[in-house]
Amino acid sequence: MVTYTFLAVFLCLMGYVTYFEFALSEQFINNPYNKRQELFTQKVIRGEIYSADGVTLAETIVDAEENEVRRYPCARIFSHIVGYSGHGTAGLEATANFSLLRSNIFYGEKVVSDLQGEKSPGDSVYTTLNYELQLQAFDALGHYDGAVVVLEPQTGRLLAMVSKPDFDPNTIGEDWEELVDEDNDRSELLNRATQGRYPPGSTFKIFTTLEYLREHPEDYTDYRFSCSGEYTEGHKTIHCYNNARHGSEDLKEAFANSCNSAYSSIGLELDLAQFHAMCESMLFDTDLPVAIESSKSSFVLEEGADTSAVMETAIGQGQTLVTPLHVALITGAIANDGVLMSPYVIDHVSDDRGVLVEQYTGKEYGRLMSSEEAAVLKEYMGYVIEAGTGRQLSNDRYEVYGKTGSAEFSTSSKASHSWFTGFAHQDGKPDIVVTVIVEDSGVGSEYAVPIAQEIFDAYYIE
Ligand SMILES: [Zn+2]
Repeated sequence: MVTYTFLAVFLCLMGYVTYFEFALSEQFINNPYNKRQELFTQKVIRGEIYSADGVTLAETIVDAEENEVRRYPCARIFSHIVGYSGHGTAGLEATANFSLLRSNIFYGEKVVSDLQGEKSPGDSVYTTLNYELQLQAFDALGHYDGAVVVLEPQTGRLLAMVSKPDFDPNTIGEDWEELVDEDNDRSELLNRATQGRYPPGSTFKIFTTLEYLREHPEDYTDYRFSCSGEYTEGHKTIHCYNNARHGSEDLKEAFANSCNSAYSSIGLELDLAQFHAMCESMLFDTDLPVAIESSKSSFVLEEGADTSAVMETAIGQGQTLVTPLHVALITGAIANDGVLMSPYVIDHVSDDRGVLVEQYTGKEYGRLMSSEEAAVLKEYMGYVIEAGTGRQLSNDRYEVYGKTGSAEFSTSSKASHSWFTGFAHQDGKPDIVVTVIVEDSGVGSEYAVPIAQEIFDAYYIE
């Protein structure tokens, strides 16, 4: 009898080893069409998700009748980045599915639990997300639609990611029909920070400047342009914002003034084949190196394009589309001397008793530009704050480097999306990148800049 019991336990144990360690590879578990996933949820209670500062972002409550309910204590504040589980999965609930449904408690305990018909507790996922910054970004964006991304350029740690309009993951089941209704044009389920594709507006002048630097490595400081408030070539006229006359400018001043006249004329000088290749090397038309759902930015300008398309593209209008995360990553590469760190959201995974299962650290994606190029762009972005469209961010507590933008998205109205992307430095604290887009608002300096300022202040001062 003893022998048989032992044998049963042994077989059971072997079964578990096979079950947890071999049969269920990560891809296997994460495949939403896999029936074995359901089997897994019968054995394991889905683990918790935490912010870096210890706030519970997702947990599973088991009531007296052993019904499991997935609960999101921060509700809408983290809706897209944490995602949901129950009506399919999205966000971290999807990418961390493997960890949340894996139980690393001792096999013997699992066997005992199983013999007693009890479930094992899943592992816990600790994110890099900063609750205070996320809340600040969420509140600062207010009632506007749009997105905010905050990350550490030297490590790739993602500190905050907000997208609006949002949804309540606690009631995703009840709200589902309305959320996916074909008459609903708000697209609440779309994570605008990673999947929203927007015209870049003047933030694109970062790329136009970089291409100009590459074509004029020796003499870009000799550049001069006389701005009369508009620039015409053929049948196309480009205006500076409010038809402002910026007068005589060098490249740095044209960048800080966000002078459309200067930049549309620079566009006409560029080697378009090389410009296209440079943009592709800057992650246009490329999958972003991130584990959550994201869209590709697109740059379509080709050699031989007409004058009008070239002039518009050089100032960030035309056909170019970018995601806010993409803009944040390029800004991060400039802050990090030209090297892009791959963004990541999971810091570590622990078992139910707090024992470390897996630790993640920053990984280099690669060098996007030389450190000299990054230094010039940084200097220019500093001048935007010192004397250009980002002056509101000038302060004596921390240094800011950035670029504003206003992206017209409708030819029939003056409506525009407001952009800011930049980074800040204060001795003794990690640098942070803040990228903001405010849909259908107005100029970047009036809408996106104050939001970025609230986030920088919250991080460096409060
Ligand atoms: Zn101008």
